[in-house]
Amino acid sequence: MITIKNAEAILKMTEAGKIVGLVHDKLKEIIEPGISLLELDNQAEKLILKLGAKPSFKGYGGFPATICASVDEQVIHGIPSKRKLREGEIVSVDVGAFYLGYHGDAAFTAAIGTISEEKARLIKITEQSFYEGLIMAKAGNHLGDISHSIENVVVNAGYYVVKEFVGHGIGVELHEDPAIPNYGPPGRGPLLEAGMTLAIEPMVNMGTQSIIVLDDGWTVITKDKKPSAHYEHTILITETEPVILTKGEKID
Ligand code: MG
Repeated sequence: MITIKNAEAILKMTEAGKIVGLVHDKLKEIIEPGISLLELDNQAEKLILKLGAKPSFKGYGGFPATICASVDEQVIHGIPSKRKLREGEIVSVDVGAFYLGYHGDAAFTAAIGTISEEKARLIKITEQSFYEGLIMAKAGNHLGDISHSIENVVVNAGYYVVKEFVGHGIGVELHEDPAIPNYGPPGRGPLLEAGMTLAIEPMVNMGTQSIIVLDDGWTVITKDKKPSAHYEHTILITETEPVILTKGEKID
C-alpha cells in the first residue's frame, strides 16, 4: 500500500530531509584524498545525532554504519572502513536520517580530487537521469513514467541501469511501497498522487548491468569491476512540481 502523507507528515519529512541535506553538505566539504570512509561515517553520525535525529541505516537489517560508502566498482551498500580515499576514485555516499518519526534518504557520488573524463561523465549522466525522472514525478502520471525517463537517459549514454536494486516509497518506514525500478515502460504502474513521498535512486554502471554481492553480505560491486555511480533524493509528489526534500543548503 502506498501511503499518502498529510500536511503534518509532510512537515516532519521536510525536517528529516533537511537533516540529510545538511549531512550531504558536510560530507561534500570534507571529502578529499586521504580521508577514510570511517572518518566520513563518524562525521555523518556526529552531525545526525547533534541535530537530534538518528541514522536510518545503522542497525537496519544489521547494517553496521551510519552511511553507505561505495568506491569505484562498488555500486551501493559499501561498509565504511579504514580505507582512505585516493585521488582519481569516486565514492557514492548514501545517508539516511530518522527524525520526528520519519525518514529522509539521499545519495550522491563525489569525485576524489581529479578524476578521469569517463568517470566524470558517469556521475553527470547518473545525476541527469535522476532529474529527467523527476520531471515525470507529478500527480496523474504513472510511476513507470519516472522509471522510463531514467532508463532512457542511461541507455542513451551507453551505460547500464542496475535492475536488482530499486528506489522506494519512504516515510515512517525507510522502505515503503512502491518499489521504483530505474527501468521499464512508460504509462504503467501506480498512478502518482499528491502526498506520496518517494526515494528515487538511479544506480548506473559504466560497463555491464551485472552485479555481485560480496561475502560481507552488503557490498554490491559490478561484475566487470568497472565504476558505478548512485544518485538519490527523497521527493514529494504534488499536483504541480515535485519537491526535493533532501536538498542541502548548497546547490549540488
Ligand atoms: Mg534509498
